[in-house]
Amino acid sequence: MAEDQPARITPRSENFPQWYQDVVREGGLAEAAEVVRGCMVIKPHGYAIWEKIQQALDKRFKETGHQNAYFPLLIPESFLKREAEHVEGFAPEVAVVTHAGGKKLEEPYVIRPTSETIIGHFFARWIKSHRDLPLKLNQWANVMRWEMKPRLFLRTGEFLWQEGHTAHATHEEAERETIQMLDVYTEFAEQWMALPVIRGRKTESERFAGAVTTYTIEGMMQDGRALQAGTSHDLGQNFGRAFNVQFQNEQGQLEHVWQTSWGVSTRLIGGLVMAHSDDAGLVLPPKLAPVQAVVVPIFRKAEERQKVLDVADRLAADLAAAGVAAVVDKDEAERPGAKFYKWERKGVPVRIELGPRDIAAGQVTLRRRTATERETLPLPDLAAQLPRILEEMQAAIFKGALEARESKTVDLEPGKPFSEALEAGPGLPLHFVRAHWCGSAACEASVKDETRASIRCIPLDARPDPGPCLVCGKPAGGRVVLARSY
Ligand SMILES: [Zn+2]
Repeated sequence: MAEDQPARITPRSENFPQWYQDVVREGGLAEAAEVVRGCMVIKPHGYAIWEKIQQALDKRFKETGHQNAYFPLLIPESFLKREAEHVEGFAPEVAVVTHAGGKKLEEPYVIRPTSETIIGHFFARWIKSHRDLPLKLNQWANVMRWEMKPRLFLRTGEFLWQEGHTAHATHEEAERETIQMLDVYTEFAEQWMALPVIRGRKTESERFAGAVTTYTIEGMMQDGRALQAGTSHDLGQNFGRAFNVQFQNEQGQLEHVWQTSWGVSTRLIGGLVMAHSDDAGLVLPPKLAPVQAVVVPIFRKAEERQKVLDVADRLAADLAAAGVAAVVDKDEAERPGAKFYKWERKGVPVRIELGPRDIAAGQVTLRRRTATERETLPLPDLAAQLPRILEEMQAAIFKGALEARESKTVDLEPGKPFSEALEAGPGLPLHFVRAHWCGSAACEASVKDETRASIRCIPLDARPDPGPCLVCGKPAGGRVVLARSY
């Protein structure tokens, strides 16, 4: 079997960042673009996962009344400058196009880092009356934010995402939209990605440049760091004023619209890897697995070959009819052992081994990606049972992630140093720390400077729980969640 041994995956306990890179590489998800600074090539298996993410979210966006549209990649540079905080936030990371058609442009274009400005421009042309509201659009697109320390999926110069942009007649309606989309993201993270998330509000220093309020969902990775998995922004009238998006209300007066924007990106794939995968490679929640079951035919003699392949094909067809995405791995240049490794590393939830003896006994050998033992199931029942097995796996992966988060979340006790609560010990995962915070930006900055941990969010479901601020000791009304993050 020695020739079947694939490249090594560094164990998580040895070097978590290296493990992440190994899993991404061996899973065939992506690689660095090398010749293009900070960018990545998303490989077919990684892109197939993105397509599953897109399908699930796109359906929910449409069910909640949004339509897809597409705006230009290039944005006049002057647009960015119209909203003061927005330009300040994004100027350091924009790429600028200064020449085109062999000539210097009169006005440079920026490559979109996000599209509030150009969409604001068109909203101003399209919205005239209260009858034009609400306007609820979504765009699937690429964006570019120049990145000095790129990491595949987590931080890359160019990435894929969706950005929702809506305009409303009242602030109350815009706020409801912001929370509705946070709910859509929460449901997607928990039910599809099997990733439990904390819903909350960002502090002023962490909010989106140009927003009144930014809401976030934060998940915990296996090393105890937080991943911001999606954000939803209440933009107030900031962009409405900057782009003069006005409508005539029912009384005939002109008002600026109230806007929202919300987005998730390909960094979710990095989150999937870091939340669930193990030292053998990628683990995918079945609902987002492009291939949910692989059938590996096993035979030694030529006369067994056709019989095994026929049964394998019939089984794959039955599985497809039961709604399971199944493939038969017929590559005869590769031994079964090498195939086992390959599909394990791609995170395929279920492997089905099928040989002449299995067929004679009317059974198959099945291995769940998340189990160490194989199990034997009757061949005729398999197609009927597999959807239930996949559901069980989906639920178990979520439960495992939830238990891991709970075991690594601590409340800061009065008088105990924050850094001791954050760091469990050398080589151990970090903690999420729930601590009291007085609301001052200075206290927030001092924690970040000293420990590299930030306030991830002010949880939406926090109960009143008075206590002393973790920095200055002044009274605070409740706890916030602090962690190091990606
Ligand atoms: Zn304080």
